Amino acid sequence: LPIDYRQARLRMVEQQLIPRGITDPRVLETFREVPRHRFVDSALEAQAYTDRALPISHGQTISQPYMVAVMTQYLAPGPQDRILEIGTGSGYQAAILSRLVRTVFTVERVPELAAQAKQVFADLRVTNVIHRVGDGSRGWAQYAPYDGIVVTAGAPHVPASLRAQLADKGRLVVPTGSRGSQMLQIIRREGNTFREESAVPCVFVPLVGEEGWAGE
Ligand code: SAM
Repeated sequence: LPIDYRQARLRMVEQQLIPRGITDPRVLETFREVPRHRFVDSALEAQAYTDRALPISHGQTISQPYMVAVMTQYLAPGPQDRILEIGTGSGYQAAILSRLVRTVFTVERVPELAAQAKQVFADLRVTNVIHRVGDGSRGWAQYAPYDGIVVTAGAPHVPASLRAQLADKGRLVVPTGSRGSQMLQIIRREGNTFREESAVPCVFVPLVGEEGWAGE
């Protein structure tokens, strides 16, 4: 029997997101709609809606649905917002955000992953994601400032460039800690004051770059 992916998505929202405190109705609706199985290898499609991260290529991962949802909710995406994502990976987080905001800018350091994500955006007719290949640990100055910035890789500290590229009232969501485990940090800008809150523990692949970790 073919798998009913729509049903799997509704279950994912009911069982993994709502009980853990994802309450924003726009965010929940988006997770019911975006076909996560299209962002993984066809061999892993049947596992796309399980409660875990999955491998993509180049030793990278598509994050656990709950983690994508938590980061999205902390970003507090508004319909007119311009959001910067560091770490395109599969493109799933960018596709989620594309339905919630005006424009998503996303940066990926592995060219092959960026190319794959670009193909999926085209297949799904996602037209408001602008992407670039390169080191995103220093942000993307050309389109700054951003209403929100989300880093989907673990950083040793909050990159100063990203703080600087936040608009007034902007939100920065970034996992910081060691290479092996991090805490999700939420930084909110008010003028030139930055208020910082530590949210959930998490495990991300390393942010590799000038304001991240050294590469292998
Ligand atoms: N947001 C992705 C998704 O929805 O599939 C998950 C991304 S994965 C956990 C982290 C990604 O960050 C990897 O694809 C990795 O290559 C990328 N990355 C690591 N360091 C980076 C950097 N300095 N600039 C841009 N991308 C980076």
